Amino acid sequence: MIVQKYLPNEYVEDIYKIDLEKLKEHGIKGIITDLDNTLIAWDQPYATEELKSWFEKVKSQGFQIVVVSNNNKERTGAFAEPLNLPFVHRAKKPFSQGYKRALQKMNLSQDEAVMVGDQLMTDIFGGNRVGLHTILVVPIVKTDGIWTRFNRMIERRLLKKMKKQGLLFWEEN
Ligand SMILES: [Mg+2]
Repeated sequence: MIVQKYLPNEYVEDIYKIDLEKLKEHGIKGIITDLDNTLIAWDQPYATEELKSWFEKVKSQGFQIVVVSNNNKERTGAFAEPLNLPFVHRAKKPFSQGYKRALQKMNLSQDEAVMVGDQLMTDIFGGNRVGLHTILVVPIVKTDGIWTRFNRMIERRLLKKMKKQGLLFWEEN
């Protein structure tokens, strides 16, 4: 397995630590973001106040945002619609169509957007394939749904390999 394909371009503790100024300097105009465990805990339905103000800040700085989730329309829509955020549900990450639909919604090319997510196997791998700048965040809660738990198992192996090859540029905790 070529682990580089799963390697994010950046790693931050949470979305609030994303350096928006730096993204702007690199010509980034759009943020594609995963939902579950990236923006909110996978078992929580709505945005927190902190998250709402972050969205306001991001928008006020001129960025567009699209939520791209493998989850269903009920879950993704219940979160995104009250915030007036465009979204793609059942995105089938890591396949490319969800990312491409998000780019179309923003009318941006892949070098003008970033992908933010908490999973190497889906968010990051898929984002890398499409040619997006990828940002990995620490999952908001440690528990996961059943499918994600399976992915996490493989993810741990990937991280081990990356570490062995000296590719990890962050400290795991
Ligand atoms: Mg997620």
